[in-house]
Amino acid sequence: MSDIKELASAPKSGWEIYRSPEHRQAMYALAADYMDFLTASKTEREAVDEVIARLLEAGYSEGFATGRAWQALHGKAIFVARKGRRPLADGIRLISAHTDSPRLDFKQRPLIEQVGVGQAKTHYYGGLRKYQWLARELAIHGVVVKADGTRIPVTLGEEADEPVFTIADLLPHLSHKDGATPLSDAFSAEKLNIILGHEPVLKGEGEDAPEAPKEAVKARMLELLNEKYGIREDDLVSAELEAVPAGPARWVGLDKGIVGGYGHDDRICVYTALRAFLEAEEPEYASCLIFWDKEEIGSDGSTGASSRFFQYCIEDMAAAWEPETPFRRIMMNTKALSGDVHAAVDPDWQDRHEFKNAAFFGYGLSLCKFTGSRGKYGANDAHPEYIGWMRGVLDERAIPWQMAELGKVDMGGGGTVALFLAAYGMDVMDAGPALLGMHSPFELASVPDIYAAKLAYQAFFEAK
Ligand code: MN
Ligand code: MN
Repeated sequence: MSDIKELASAPKSGWEIYRSPEHRQAMYALAADYMDFLTASKTEREAVDEVIARLLEAGYSEGFATGRAWQALHGKAIFVARKGRRPLADGIRLISAHTDSPRLDFKQRPLIEQVGVGQAKTHYYGGLRKYQWLARELAIHGVVVKADGTRIPVTLGEEADEPVFTIADLLPHLSHKDGATPLSDAFSAEKLNIILGHEPVLKGEGEDAPEAPKEAVKARMLELLNEKYGIREDDLVSAELEAVPAGPARWVGLDKGIVGGYGHDDRICVYTALRAFLEAEEPEYASCLIFWDKEEIGSDGSTGASSRFFQYCIEDMAAAWEPETPFRRIMMNTKALSGDVHAAVDPDWQDRHEFKNAAFFGYGLSLCKFTGSRGKYGANDAHPEYIGWMRGVLDERAIPWQMAELGKVDMGGGGTVALFLAAYGMDVMDAGPALLGMHSPFELASVPDIYAAKLAYQAFFEAK
């Protein structure tokens, strides 16, 4: 009779597996570099810019003239490719991730003034718990595009000498009647107004001085925006301004075992997949990355996963590298990982998870056969043959991994871009680190999980 320890499944802690000084050193070096990437990537555009900077450093160029190439769309989505030893006809190894994260977007006519306070109205982007965005320091990142096409980049609230922005929350003394209000009704999206200003334009001194403008605080905000950026109120109509948590990513915990920051979902997969892609040794198959935008709002839009961008990139790549190979042949032979984050069991909300099929913080890469909700609806549901293959790839290098569902079956659910890739007939499954506090302004990632994800993605690219 076999030893039960040999027979029973037992996920392994990343701390345990990566206990050697060499691993610990590499693990913390990776996490520190990731923190820089995360701090610099607070919007989809910034994430793509960071990716391109690293590609340029590694000798990649735009277009498919060489075997190290990228193609970007609107500065928000990017496809990256590296030739392998085998022809494209044998399929590619592909990792997808998304560059966008939940946040508060400025409305197109954002500026208002109420009771002496100047504010910007917002429309939230993606799934968020509204109260988490109140009473905290916010920065504004984005672009303003003038009617003549001039694009003005905006980053405000990150430097120590710059002002930050915030949404004031109601004081507890006046919120008693809200105690019995369901959470879903307690916070209104139309109250997510960001404080931008306070000083009014005053009536001039002297007899003939001009009257103060009607909305004097708003007028002062317009003056300041005009001084700094040369813009008028109408220019905000063609702006994309995103209010995001201000400040850098930080170590969390006495042991610095956790990285806290904004936008782990899904820049943690963008970063770890990119590092794995760049560091993979002489890959057998062509390696590709596709980083989409708009995942948090359903993957629609020209830069989202439901657009044709990915297909066009593959067609352009094939036309340049291997014109005789039909698109469908490449797709049908492709193996893909949908790199996206998972929900780790929350120490204080353990009841939301089903422990036998949950992801635990620090236990390595989380694999997910299906996402979706209410009976796997809207899921890719990966094939066991593919999961078996991937398990073998990870076990061969002793990379910690766990198989997980998002939460209890009736509890909720969610989706990823896996189904958009599955539509091409390729093998695909979800694989990424599990987070605590996902979609909050301060998400938490486990240091060994970041390391395991990078090594796992690299093993995937290097697998024969
Ligand atoms: Mn995600
Ligand atoms: Mn998400």
